[in-house]
Amino acid sequence: MTGLEGSAGLSAAERGTVMKKALVSGASRGIGRACAEALSADGFRVVVNYRENREKAGELARRIGGEAIGADVSDPTAVKRMFDAAGDIDALVCNAGIALQKLFTDTSYEEWRRIFAVNVDGAYNLIRAALPHMIHEKRGRIVIVSSVWGVRGASCEVAYSASKAALTGLTRALAKELGPSGITVNCVAPGVIDTDMNAALDTEALAELADETPLCRLGTPEEVAEVVSFLCSEKAGFVTGQIIGVDGGFGM
Ligand code: NAP
Repeated sequence: MTGLEGSAGLSAAERGTVMKKALVSGASRGIGRACAEALSADGFRVVVNYRENREKAGELARRIGGEAIGADVSDPTAVKRMFDAAGDIDALVCNAGIALQKLFTDTSYEEWRRIFAVNVDGAYNLIRAALPHMIHEKRGRIVIVSSVWGVRGASCEVAYSASKAALTGLTRALAKELGPSGITVNCVAPGVIDTDMNAALDTEALAELADETPLCRLGTPEEVAEVVSFLCSEKAGFVTGQIIGVDGGFGM
């Protein structure tokens, strides 16, 4: 499914020959949504990617003057179609992700594969599609959203933790490879953030996680977006290959 909402139909000049363009995957809700809003406030024209929530993504795109494009990031053909529609991207935020709370021994191979398909292959598909333009321009910003669980590991979230750990390895290795091309690659590792992803946790579990966090509370999507915004900015020109915890100290 590839839907175009918002400003599709604008001329090439209107579509960003002047403004830089950012693409945020999984921007219909939660952290991705906050990133899209922050990058728009920073002056980027933002492509709001989503998988199912066309209406929410379209509403956001209209509000921030961007465009919403549907694509399952795990599907390379859909991602290519999205980039064909979006045009050249100067800043890429690989945020789309799914979680799975299950014992490792109850996790089926299909479930394991789906977690990796979205969280890891998704980043691969997005970065591969964004790179030709960035390499040609010898500049670009890539920010990958991992998780504190990718650093610490979480019981009953082994597949999720392993996929998020893969993203930290990807960040460091790719930063080395792309440094000579003037492209920075960084990673944010959020702690427990108040979004739909944690909706399955009951009040007691959320309170326990807040208690375990040195700053004694959950984070907000906007607090993660502030760091992503910095990493996509000119100010972060000498920052690459970093895994930055946005976690209230949870990852220490
Ligand atoms: P969320 O509220 O569940 O939102 C997930 C977003 O990803 C939605 O926009 C969803 O689109 C999109 N998405 C899911 N699967 C997709 C796919 N296959 N292709 C394209 N888009 C897809 O999640 P969140 O809490 O904001 O999490 C965002 C990222 O932060 C994830 O990578 C997550 O692992 C990471 N993270 C979250 C937390 C936390 O505590 N919340 C902590 C650490 C890391 P639709 O709306 O269309 O379904």
